[in-house]
Amino acid sequence: MNLPENGDHAQGAHGAGFDTLAIHAGQAVDPTTGAVIPPVYLTSTYVQDGIGGLRGGYEYSRGGNPTRTALETQLAALEGGVRALSFASGLAAEDALLRSVLAPGGHVIVGNDVYGGTHRLIRRVHGAWGVRHSTVDLGDLDAVRAAIEPGATKVLWIETPSNPLMKITDVAALAALGREAGALVVVDNTFASPALQQPIALGADVVVHSTTKYLGGHSDVVGGALVFAAGQEELAEQVTFTQFAAGAVSGPFDAFLTTRGIKTLGIRMQRHSSNALAIAQRLEGHAGIAQVFYPGLESHPGHELAARQMSGFGGMISIALAGGGEAARRFAESTTLFQLAESLGGVESLVNHPWSMTHASVRGTEAEVPESIVRLSVGIEDPADLLADIDEALARL
Ligand SMILES: *Cc1c(COP(=O)(O)O)cnc(C)c1O
Repeated sequence: MNLPENGDHAQGAHGAGFDTLAIHAGQAVDPTTGAVIPPVYLTSTYVQDGIGGLRGGYEYSRGGNPTRTALETQLAALEGGVRALSFASGLAAEDALLRSVLAPGGHVIVGNDVYGGTHRLIRRVHGAWGVRHSTVDLGDLDAVRAAIEPGATKVLWIETPSNPLMKITDVAALAALGREAGALVVVDNTFASPALQQPIALGADVVVHSTTKYLGGHSDVVGGALVFAAGQEELAEQVTFTQFAAGAVSGPFDAFLTTRGIKTLGIRMQRHSSNALAIAQRLEGHAGIAQVFYPGLESHPGHELAARQMSGFGGMISIALAGGGEAARRFAESTTLFQLAESLGGVESLVNHPWSMTHASVRGTEAEVPESIVRLSVGIEDPADLLADIDEALARL
């Protein structure tokens, strides 16, 4: 079987299945000892056999490190890309991509419930350098068409399911639109993970990840990644240069933890999805809950589209409390197994009040999240225990 090895970037579609690739891509047995798990290369530099005589191309770890290469090989294989780059955080990955593609005067289109940190990065950091953006409802293709500025729109930024309202965006339709306009089509695949959704197969040019979330999966590491589709080799080279020149690389131990997490991604996503569906069904119809946002529910406006472009509905649920902001805060503070914290995608369940926590930075902008929303990151604990915790919080409303 043809499994991508460390340093072998030219992968993509080939025989092995998803879980096999997750476990073996980039994980060739150590040739010197036979260790099943390749060593973690905790080194900043590499001896040269005479000036310029590099062994395996490694010179200095800002430019390359075998443990990081192993993760990049694994990520490219799982997303069906030709090349992946691993960064110090999801936002560092986004920043390196945007800096490589945009110049002053350039224009970006983002969804109106894009991740708050992405919105802040584009609006406040890149905005200060003359980059402009439009915030639109990506479910409205006419609105996207109207927002495109021919020649100036360089990036169409898609996030699906979106954070926190779980809107589903038609990646194939928007990718066609973006390509027609000459814009780079970027998909933030953090919420679905490649186990449930593969944007490159749907027409995306670049996939972005906060590997901090489902890919790492254990809430023990912050990281990010970019995966480039076939045809984007030149852009991949440019971003590799930006990463090398600006330095937002992941360290070897972080890369190792992420690779380790990814090996169980497939089965984790199945359990996240089944637990979340059970909880969404329990929440739906309760008098204290005005609305449940979960694409696995038939009542969700994006349910059919999600069933078409995803192979599971994931572990993220948002709810709108009938009692508004006050009820939302009370609910978020009254669960016990669901721990009150930012972030998502770990094996443990978390609850978050976006308006005052993860999405505080977008208050007062077009991407503001209603105060009545609570977001749940459903973990992989026993479903009966999670349901009991939800029932108790509902009883206190
Ligand atoms: C967390 C997150 C990011 C940012 O990633 P960091 O690793 O926190 O920098 C980007 N997009 C989405 C959808 C996220 O949830």
